[in-house]
Amino acid sequence: MARIVIAGSGFGGLITAVRLRRHLRNLPQHTITVVAKDPQFLYRPSLVGVAFGEQDLKHITFDLAPTYRRLGIEFRAAAVTGIDPEARTVSTTEGDLAYDKLVVALGERLAPEEIPGLAEYGYSVCNGEEALRLRAALEQYTGGPAVVGFCQNVQTGGPAFEVALALQGRMARLHQEGPIQFVDPLPRMWAPAGPEAGEFMVRTFAERGITRRGPVTIKRVEADRVVLGDDTELESRLTILLPPFRGHEAQRALAGDNPRGWIETDKTMRAKRHPDVFVAGSAVGFEGPKQGHTAMLQAEVAAYNLARDLGAVSGPEREYVHEMSCVLDLGGGEGLFVRRSLWNEEVREASLGRTWPLAKEALAYAFVNTPIFKEWGISAHGLRLPRWLAGTDLISRS
Ligand SMILES: Cc1cc2nc3c(=O)[nH]c(=O)nc-3n(C[C@H](O)[C@H](O)[C@H](O)COP(=O)(O)OP(=O)(O)OC[C@H]3O[C@@H](n4cnc5c(N)ncnc54)[C@H](O)[C@@H]3O)c2cc1C
Repeated sequence: MARIVIAGSGFGGLITAVRLRRHLRNLPQHTITVVAKDPQFLYRPSLVGVAFGEQDLKHITFDLAPTYRRLGIEFRAAAVTGIDPEARTVSTTEGDLAYDKLVVALGERLAPEEIPGLAEYGYSVCNGEEALRLRAALEQYTGGPAVVGFCQNVQTGGPAFEVALALQGRMARLHQEGPIQFVDPLPRMWAPAGPEAGEFMVRTFAERGITRRGPVTIKRVEADRVVLGDDTELESRLTILLPPFRGHEAQRALAGDNPRGWIETDKTMRAKRHPDVFVAGSAVGFEGPKQGHTAMLQAEVAAYNLARDLGAVSGPEREYVHEMSCVLDLGGGEGLFVRRSLWNEEVREASLGRTWPLAKEALAYAFVNTPIFKEWGISAHGLRLPRWLAGTDLISRS
């Protein structure tokens, strides 16, 4: 009998749990316990809509306890405070949990404190509280210079592009004046998405009067300005910056000397120094984008290889292949879909069309409101549309 503990229940933890339950359906002697500090799942890709008043937070969340009850998985709503890989124990605010196999899926810790003034004067959309705080700030904002973007050490820049475009659309509707300046540390516009998507975003920003400054770092944020690493000062009445990401303190013992506190794994999603520990989602120490998409792909690999350790599946170990995939809502009903391999050149997709925002919304609705993904374990990663619905192909056009 193996005691399996999954720490965290976002995209990484939830999909690992559902997949494991399926792999272990004929081996009831193995127990699965999920522990997460938030009793609800939050569909984070819809948070931009919450900030701009188009979505209600309650429509993008669901209770985890009944979901896990239906799956026969024990769920504990508690914060993990530490992990002892030698004693194989997870410490939580509700007591210790002993494990034989552990999956860490705690996501990223937002670290605004790394940039003076950011927590005080900046806004973001990274969690429900922040999205609502920004919503309230937008109601007060009557126009004037705005700075939008993401700080150094952020590994999910996509939401900031959506925020900049949504802000521009809102200001145009309300006849408010900018300007909007976009700041980010990437070597070129949206570099991980590839040159075609990046050049498209350069043109889109130019058409909408958004100026990109990059690559830049953020030194500090003040009430009326953003100070860049080279001491350039950008006037700002509304500052929306995604804060730096770090690994959670609770996983410190597994992160070793990783400078940002991430847990390093091999491609089987097994922690490098701890073979009984798997990792899925933002907690993993891979370079490049940290997404719901990558978290779910990693969760499937982790669940399969863990089940294989227990003799529940046969065949060779599976390996994760890093790729990004997302739909940027461009406003006005238009969307940009990008899917791209990050370790090789195998997948290069970028298309522009009006079906993408609808597909994105449909996926969000299905994820939150139906059992398709969260109970049946059907893969939720990577939107696919038939060629005739996918719109303009930016790769073949370039
Ligand atoms: C505005 C926005 C838009 C986005 N859009 C997209 C998109 O379009 N496509 C895409 O693929 N990705 C998108 N992302 C990124 C995506 O949401 C994240 O990459 C994803 O949520 C990471 O999944 P995760 O499971 O690693 O972590 P999370 O989803 O952050 O889950 C972490 C889990 O760990 C729990 N936890 C944290 N700390 C503790 C603790 N100490 N003890 C116990 N439990 C703890 C939490 O309660 C939660 O259950 C977006 C993100 C944002 C903010």
